[in-house]
Amino acid sequence: MEAVQNEKGQISIHTENIFPIIKKFLYSDHEIFLRELVSNAVDATQKLRQLASFGEFGGELGDLKVTVSLDEEAKTITISDNGLGMTADEIKKYINQIAFSGATDFLDKYKDKTDDKGQIIGHFGLGFYSAFMVAERVDIVSKSYRDGSEAVRWTCDGSTEFELSPAERADRGTDIILHIAPDSEEFLNKGRLQGILDKYARFLPVPVEFDEKVVNNTTPIWTKSPADLTDEDYKTFYRELYPMGEEPLFWIHLNVDYPFNLTGILYFPRIKNELRFQREKIQLYSRQVFITDEVKDVVPDFLMMLHGVIDSPDIPLNVSRSFLQSDANVKKINGYITRKVADKLNDLFNADRKAFEEKFDDIGLFIKYGILSDDKFWEKAKNFVLLKNTEGEFATLDEYREKVQANQTDKNDTLVLLYTSDRKQQDAYIESARRRGYDVLLMDNVIDAHFINALEQKLEKVHFQRVDADSLDKLIDKGLNNESVLSEADQTKLKDVFDQVLDNKMLNVSVEAQPVDELPVTITLPEFMRRMKDMSALSGEQSFYGNLPNTYNVVVNANHPLIGKILAEADADSQKSLVKQVYDLALLSQNMLTGSELTAFVKRTVAAL
Ligand code: ADP
Ligand code: MG
Repeated sequence: MEAVQNEKGQISIHTENIFPIIKKFLYSDHEIFLRELVSNAVDATQKLRQLASFGEFGGELGDLKVTVSLDEEAKTITISDNGLGMTADEIKKYINQIAFSGATDFLDKYKDKTDDKGQIIGHFGLGFYSAFMVAERVDIVSKSYRDGSEAVRWTCDGSTEFELSPAERADRGTDIILHIAPDSEEFLNKGRLQGILDKYARFLPVPVEFDEKVVNNTTPIWTKSPADLTDEDYKTFYRELYPMGEEPLFWIHLNVDYPFNLTGILYFPRIKNELRFQREKIQLYSRQVFITDEVKDVVPDFLMMLHGVIDSPDIPLNVSRSFLQSDANVKKINGYITRKVADKLNDLFNADRKAFEEKFDDIGLFIKYGILSDDKFWEKAKNFVLLKNTEGEFATLDEYREKVQANQTDKNDTLVLLYTSDRKQQDAYIESARRRGYDVLLMDNVIDAHFINALEQKLEKVHFQRVDADSLDKLIDKGLNNESVLSEADQTKLKDVFDQVLDNKMLNVSVEAQPVDELPVTITLPEFMRRMKDMSALSGEQSFYGNLPNTYNVVVNANHPLIGKILAEADADSQKSLVKQVYDLALLSQNMLTGSELTAFVKRTVAAL
């Protein structure tokens, strides 16, 4: 081997000085310098282990490890490894030429692609040169594993000039010494470095030491075979990921190597009935290096509520988000995850129906969201998505059709599924429906308005009606007309009386012949309008339907004795107060009687007793 000569040289580059550019464009993410340098150090140890396994390195591997050290006085951060090291020629090749051309390529490509905040979109690695985001000078002291190698020092102050000289280093390996720039002194802080290592180095495959402690778990369970893991292992790992999290419901161990490489564990959390802001997120890794927890585009939207980790070297991490969206690998990964999740749910459903039902309040939201957003998911989920009725009984779509078909099919052969979105508020209506032997579904999940809409589109001749959307005879119109005890003329007269007394253009009064056991007056909210309003309320956006005022139908039961009494009442004032009273009762059972109207009603009722 040739001895190292003192040498000065130019890093070949057409930009006068690249480092100010690197700094400027990466300002939002300066801390990644540590991820890049530590993962280079990890790579160096793994390469050496590989060389040993090929028989190309016959020496002692020893305890392969990476050490990060901080010298606040000297204002340096040093990343050391006992990996394969570099000769002077290798430094010239890998650092001066290759790494650098990587950096220039990158900047050429992305310097114009900034978002509205002027930041480069997405995450990327600039590799070794990201060191210059925080350092005003970088030294490399390295000694190759090759027999007879001499240690070499490379120094660069952020200009395009570098210096190479002989150095002292007892053993093979590399030190990267960062002389931290004045504007980056925040990194000369133990807590700060610990935080960055906890984030990026937590599951690196080689021990990383900082402050005399190993910061990482080198064999996280997603790298192991599911056959070697117990439930307790999965739960323990969950707590490791999210120390504050509640115990997960169940999990899926992902493991593919063709046509792309992906491992990971997805946990189903207990989320109940909220589309809340996610505190715990899925973490994305590339060969155990943490990349991001913004997994949008890699994980299907509806699975963003899951927790856990995904590790794939095939996800292009060093590019912008818009690239991620169109990347074929990412699309495949997306499809794969969706399929795995659907299969897992299907297995759970088949293996233990009762346990599945018990979990349904938690997982129903995912399943419904999945059905809304992904047709492939629907194809599988239609077999296991459950409907729950007001009695707490569960049924699949097929089972439910079977159950209510005979009694809830209307004259047009449409199956009418009745539901409530609020069993307390709509109690009077639920009770009426059940009295006729109708089943009422509980649809009180935030996503249910949309879910119902989707089911109507996917299932043939199925229509959903909230129990208070119309009178029961109209909700499920079997074409059987109830005989009215009132004549046409009397009915018109009655409608006029109500219109006059109620005096409100938003109310639509009709007189119908209903069974005697129905209330004298019922308020109904037409299904379509109400559902559109509910859906737009969930989306949180201003919309045509959201801005429409509420209109109500007031259904007067021609067959109720009280209505007959109102019609027969000769005194106009008495008639008026009777109308008020039955109308207020209707409002009351729809929970719509409030404020001064309610007070007046109570006073009037007390006075009449
Ligand atoms: P990448 O890691 O993607 O190859 P980098 O810019 O991070 O790009 O590194 C460039 C090259 O420099 C590496 O491929 C490797 O050959 C060399 N290198 C960097 N750090 C080390 C190290 N600690 N030990 C040995 N070689 C290293
Ligand atoms: Mg690298």
